[in-house]
Amino acid sequence: MQARKTFLSFAPPLIGQEEIDAVVDTLRTGWLTTGPKTQQFEREFAKRFQAPAALALNSCTAGLHTALVALGIGKGDEVITTCLTFAATVNVIEHVGATPVLVDVEPDTLNLDPDLVERAITPRTKAILPVHFAGHPVDLDAISTLAQRRRLAVIEDAAHAVGAVYRGRPIGSGNHPTLFSFYATKNMTTGEGGMLTADEELISQARIISLHGMSREAWNRYQRGGSWQYDVVTPGFKYNMTDLQASLGLCQLHRLTDFQRRRKEIAHSYTRAFREFDELEVPTCRPDVVHAWHLYVLRLRSKGLNIDRDRFIDSLTNKNIGTSVHFIPIHLHSYYRAKYGYRETDYRTAYQNFQRMLSLPLHPGMTDQDVDDVIEAVCDTIRQLRTGARAA
Ligand SMILES: *Cc1c(COP(=O)(O)O)cnc(C)c1O
Repeated sequence: MQARKTFLSFAPPLIGQEEIDAVVDTLRTGWLTTGPKTQQFEREFAKRFQAPAALALNSCTAGLHTALVALGIGKGDEVITTCLTFAATVNVIEHVGATPVLVDVEPDTLNLDPDLVERAITPRTKAILPVHFAGHPVDLDAISTLAQRRRLAVIEDAAHAVGAVYRGRPIGSGNHPTLFSFYATKNMTTGEGGMLTADEELISQARIISLHGMSREAWNRYQRGGSWQYDVVTPGFKYNMTDLQASLGLCQLHRLTDFQRRRKEIAHSYTRAFREFDELEVPTCRPDVVHAWHLYVLRLRSKGLNIDRDRFIDSLTNKNIGTSVHFIPIHLHSYYRAKYGYRETDYRTAYQNFQRMLSLPLHPGMTDQDVDDVIEAVCDTIRQLRTGARAA
């Protein structure tokens, strides 16, 4: 087989002339920071995902932090979250002085396991922070039922889940805080950026916290007829989105339906090709959800293969296919290990799956040829490295 000549990136952003024109237009308006474009982006985003209200921020991480502060979570409080996530989800819990309580994942979706959440609740628990891993919605009804019964807040890390739907309800349509990411590798991007959706009351509070704790926005203050008056009601942060980012975001939002359609097509092509192999476990998609397909996480079944995940990745790299691993479980990172005394095997499902998982290229800019190249590289790697085929 002929390997492809050029390297296929894992997740490059898809930026077209529309985005370039939109940013240039914003530059020409003379209004660069939070202003009319940001307001429009918030309005359109909220409408699209049936959110009660939305607040655009400079990252998902900033939004998670803001939500925790708005809910009054701090020292002495516990927040239950998944051990299989990006560090930002857990770092923000440390930022507010609360204690992250890690819980293991379900073996099929790799999402937070509601039964284990229930067992982790203590009198100090204040919130549950699930992550929609890879874009597959977490079992929100199970989590919400638990939260209501024990009077806990729910904060959704929806960094992977723009466009995902749970039992007919778009992710972001609930009243509790939900955070989206527009980082460069995510399903839609503003370079860096994020969106918080929640009920109106939480959004107005978060708006103040996210901008110096000021009771009025700069845009209103400097408009003609706007007042110079403002009051600092809390020592807030500097987390606002700029109009440059929002003009990018509006274009990406308008193209999202096409982006998602292509992601789904690619994921289905992969699954059709890979489910034939005993050595591979393809991602699950439960019947009551729409998957956002942010990531295509393939798992190796080590029995049939005489190589491990790292060598599988090396083989794909040699065939010019970019990959990644999502995620190194939180309890393996040195800060968290040292602070909480975790052992490798503390979260068995996450740990065992981490060792055999890799994420394949998945982005709407991929051509059919790119998709075929990935499939061929994976199939070839398996055939070359099957147990017993080594000596041949
Ligand atoms: C990307 C990501 C974040 C952070 O998003 P930023 O916008 O970069 O702050 C948080 N959680 C998860 C699960 C992510 O993948």
